[in-house]
Amino acid sequence: MADRIADIWGARTPHAKDTPWPVRVDMHLDQGLAEPDVDRWVQSACVLCSNGCGCDIAVKDGRVVGIRGRAGDVVNHGRLGPKGLYGSWRRDDADRLTRPLVRRGGVLEESDWDTAMDGEEPDVQQHTCQVLAERVKRQSAALTPIVERYGEHREREPERLHATGLESTRSGAVGLLRDLQDLYTLANLTDITWTVVGQAAQGLRDRELLDVVSSCEKDTDRQLAWLCTRIKQAAPQALIAAG
Ligand code: SF4
Repeated sequence: MADRIADIWGARTPHAKDTPWPVRVDMHLDQGLAEPDVDRWVQSACVLCSNGCGCDIAVKDGRVVGIRGRAGDVVNHGRLGPKGLYGSWRRDDADRLTRPLVRRGGVLEESDWDTAMDGEEPDVQQHTCQVLAERVKRQSAALTPIVERYGEHREREPERLHATGLESTRSGAVGLLRDLQDLYTLANLTDITWTVVGQAAQGLRDRELLDVVSSCEKDTDRQLAWLCTRIKQAAPQALIAAG
């Protein structure tokens, strides 16, 4: 049979208007096997796209060894595309991935499902948190000369938003979700505060403060984006799996 990677559509089967679409049974078996070697054919359908081409799966010695299109199927009249022909039936193939791969430093490495579904390795998450925390320290340092110039007038009112619960972390999946939500609330307060301070800096025509606000706003945007992603990842486990 033709190499269906090189010749994706396979041999043409032209037919006249209002005449039946000709049958063309495509088949692919493990190397070295021919049709008489197959012990039995099991009816199935390719599920690699919405066409759902009808097919028969070849079984030999209890192993899946190939596929052929089903001639009587109204969808494909025996034809199979390259995906169905070469990929759909390879349950027992040595190259089949049976464990998830996670990209670390640009390289795909085997991992486990919990890690892969969580989206990030624990050490990667820790590294991300450290990077974001370092940026906050840089913000604080950048604001120091400005605070010295204008002075500091602490108001009691915003202190209520410094969630005391964040001094320690909650436990469990729901606790993690609530910690992340608290952080998101605080990051939003920081975000709108940069807007307020930026407006003041414009009024004062304070170029230095405007530069600090512009840089810090970007950092806060990154914090919010990361927190939003983590909340989306943590929510299903906290609200569905844990329940
Ligand atoms: S054989 Fe190709 S066209 Fe048919 S269902 Fe599979 S992927 Fe889709």
